[in-house]
Amino acid sequence: MKALIIDRNSQTRFDDIPEPSIKEGEVLVSVEYVGLCGSDLNTWRGLNPLVVYPCLPGHEIGGTVMQVAEDVTKCQVGDRVTILPYTACGECSSCKKGRPNACKYNQTLGVQRQGGMVRKLAVPFQKALVCNQLNSRQLALIEPLSVGLHAARRGAINVGEWVVIIGCGVIGLGTIAAAAAMGARVIAVDIDDRKEAVALACGATRFINSSKSDLLEIAGGLDEGRGPSLVIEAVGLSSTIELAVDLVAFAGRIVYVGYAKKPVTFDSAIFLLKELDIRGSRGATEADFRAVIALMEQNRYPVELLISAYYPLGKADRALEHWASDPGAVTKILVELQSE
Ligand SMILES: [Zn+2]
Ligand SMILES: [Zn+2]
Repeated sequence: MKALIIDRNSQTRFDDIPEPSIKEGEVLVSVEYVGLCGSDLNTWRGLNPLVVYPCLPGHEIGGTVMQVAEDVTKCQVGDRVTILPYTACGECSSCKKGRPNACKYNQTLGVQRQGGMVRKLAVPFQKALVCNQLNSRQLALIEPLSVGLHAARRGAINVGEWVVIIGCGVIGLGTIAAAAAMGARVIAVDIDDRKEAVALACGATRFINSSKSDLLEIAGGLDEGRGPSLVIEAVGLSSTIELAVDLVAFAGRIVYVGYAKKPVTFDSAIFLLKELDIRGSRGATEADFRAVIALMEQNRYPVELLISAYYPLGKADRALEHWASDPGAVTKILVELQSE
């Protein structure tokens, strides 16, 4: 079967790889849609420190079960599924604390091991989350939206509080939707006006284009001049990572779900002057996936606004070029696996 392979130096090629067969405890999934992730784009750009080359990408997966091993009772042929793309060792400090998303030895489909951008994928049945209420396009969005929901949960949101969320890519939008569902008043920030409609549709109270407006001044006026008690950074640039510390209120909280590709410099005095709680947010748990599935079933996500374009597998390399050429125009690109 055909597979897109990303190599170093933005080289791509299509390989013919063997079709998988299932072992005990596994299900075979007919993959219908795979979302391109910012990490796939970074893999292509040579900016993903975690990736193992050559890389067969794909960890945002929507499909249908086409075969189950004899010992599998939890899935049936015909079930629609999304895939939990992460492994966890079960023994490290994170795993022992019930936080397998931050497993020290995490391996993610399409990053450290072969990904899911293929027509057929064999996975352990526990990794296939069944949801027959959603279509496979919606299911391909569950993973990145779950990463966003996890970031909102890491923020320990209180009902009614002001939250500034920097970055309106899919992770940021997933964070906005989850924070709004948790009762926050959300200020969505981006540098591209084309993100306004989708940010508001996700539940933001207000959208600010920080390239045109003075974000520090506007945020500083929130909560009667105290500022936002929570800032979530979902961009991954040094400038926005530093900005979060300036934006947040005294005794506030920061969640970083984006990471910079270079070291970031802080004046650390502000950490104690403001007595900040600073948290990282990595991936998502199965519980996060199930929470997003429930929100998706309630139509809490503007699916049509989130999906910017569809590409068949044979043109997935061009999809990466399209995204890189105009990032502000793209929210999510879905690759169609069964169209050719
Ligand atoms: Zn991703
Ligand atoms: Zn572990």
